[in-house]
Amino acid sequence: MAEFDVDLFVIGGGSGGVRAARIAAGHGARVMVAEEYRMGGTCVIRGCVPKKLFVIGSHVRQEIADAAGFGWTIPSATFDWPTLIANKDKEIARLEAAYTTNVEKSGARIVKTRAVLEDAHTLRLANGEAVKAKYVLIATGGAPNHGPVIPGIEHVISSNEAFHLKKLPRRILIQGGGYIALEFACIFAGYGSDVTVVYRGDNILRGFDEDVRTHVRGEMEKEGITILTGCTVNAVDRHGEDFTSHLSNGSSIASDKVMFAIGRHPNVGGLGLEKAGVAINPANGGVAVDHFSKTSVANIYAIGDVTHRTNLTPVAIREGHAFADTVFGNRPVQVDHQDIPTAVFCQPEVGTVGLTEAEARAKFSHVDVYKATFRPIKATLSGRDTRVLMKLVVDGTSDRVVGCHIVGDTAAEIIQAVAIAVKMKATKADFDATIALHPTAAEELVTMRTPTARHVRQAAE
Ligand SMILES: Cc1cc2nc3c(=O)[nH]c(=O)nc-3n(C[C@H](O)[C@H](O)[C@H](O)COP(=O)(O)OP(=O)(O)OC[C@H]3O[C@@H](n4cnc5c(N)ncnc54)[C@H](O)[C@@H]3O)c2cc1C
Repeated sequence: MAEFDVDLFVIGGGSGGVRAARIAAGHGARVMVAEEYRMGGTCVIRGCVPKKLFVIGSHVRQEIADAAGFGWTIPSATFDWPTLIANKDKEIARLEAAYTTNVEKSGARIVKTRAVLEDAHTLRLANGEAVKAKYVLIATGGAPNHGPVIPGIEHVISSNEAFHLKKLPRRILIQGGGYIALEFACIFAGYGSDVTVVYRGDNILRGFDEDVRTHVRGEMEKEGITILTGCTVNAVDRHGEDFTSHLSNGSSIASDKVMFAIGRHPNVGGLGLEKAGVAINPANGGVAVDHFSKTSVANIYAIGDVTHRTNLTPVAIREGHAFADTVFGNRPVQVDHQDIPTAVFCQPEVGTVGLTEAEARAKFSHVDVYKATFRPIKATLSGRDTRVLMKLVVDGTSDRVVGCHIVGDTAAEIIQAVAIAVKMKATKADFDATIALHPTAAEELVTMRTPTARHVRQAAE
């Protein structure tokens, strides 16, 4: 009898686990994937994909309003939330089926169950069955974290529930200042909800470039979203269908939904990690891994959000692929976590890659900043009060563009292409040598000739 039932057991059928399973099976490994909820994981079921569908739909309101300046008269439009939810659910079910089919086609076997580690090579399934695996991949992702327990926390929803609301909230309070909180704030505002964002820090989008943070806040406020910073929700009372949130600044806010999006924690609980000897990274609470995603146990690897490195779908996919090539493809691959482009699908969008101005100034002795804010061409006729931000951060010594930050329509699409240039270490001279594409907003990136700020650190600093 073979020593192991499978060569690889993947815990979690999300972005990272699915990619790893398919590639490992392609390399000839006998693979089993356990998924306790729905194939596709967070991104497909209750993350990027349904979120982007919501975002696209929420923009229609602005499109209709903006159309008047271009001569259109559109009879008063109505919006039906249940239709949106039903259509979104249909598309997610289609994608879930496609994920299942693709994994099965690769030769890997799916078991629809929770799986936990009993020891370094033994997985226990929910029906009690034990599976012996040569290698184990932990790809269990993450989950919303509501923070410290406050009175009334049971009334608070997370992004998970926001995807399944029975009706559009008339008024919603969202606590959080990160990308998920702001995206949902703009989604709900776009569909017509009255939105209040509550954030404990001094400004939203911590970790992003300061100009981006200020710009986005201003744009969201212009669209009628209330943003309260420097305070938190201390308690939530329920009165029938209504809620009152009591804030640390002494005020209270009435709404028909309260949502927290204040962070996510890696799914490490109850997995049997201690029994298997898998160490946790004390710095972030995720599974501790080396550059090859190997844990403290030689035959156990971990990838994606459960490692709490860079919690994005393409990163989980890349890590899963690299793991499978390394262990089963005889081709050791380390994932490069530098210069990962990222977006915030708020309105207007944020697209960013590389260093913020502050990070660049801490790293380099000479930093040049090129910045432009301008009215997008569409706003000239629509009359909308909105501005685009384009910013390049350049290492003045090497002339390398080390950061690019955009706020404006299609910023995410633009930054994906700019990220190639930044990754290739393009210089400002390379940007300048590129002929502009007119008329676009992105042409600004190759036409900003004079630095708006130059920071030269003196030797003694
Ligand atoms: C609202 C929201 C919006 C997002 N938007 C974006 C975006 O625009 N762009 C982007 O790049 N990223 C986005 N993300 C992040 C992205 O979804 C994650 O980074 C990505 O899904 C991580 O993939 P993963 O494979 O590590 O984990 P997941 O996709 O979370 O998959 C883990 C899977 O493991 C299963 N599981 C857990 N424990 C067990 C167990 N013991 N046994 C069996 N199965 C188990 C879970 O059910 C889950 O299906 C978003 C996330 C959220 C919440």
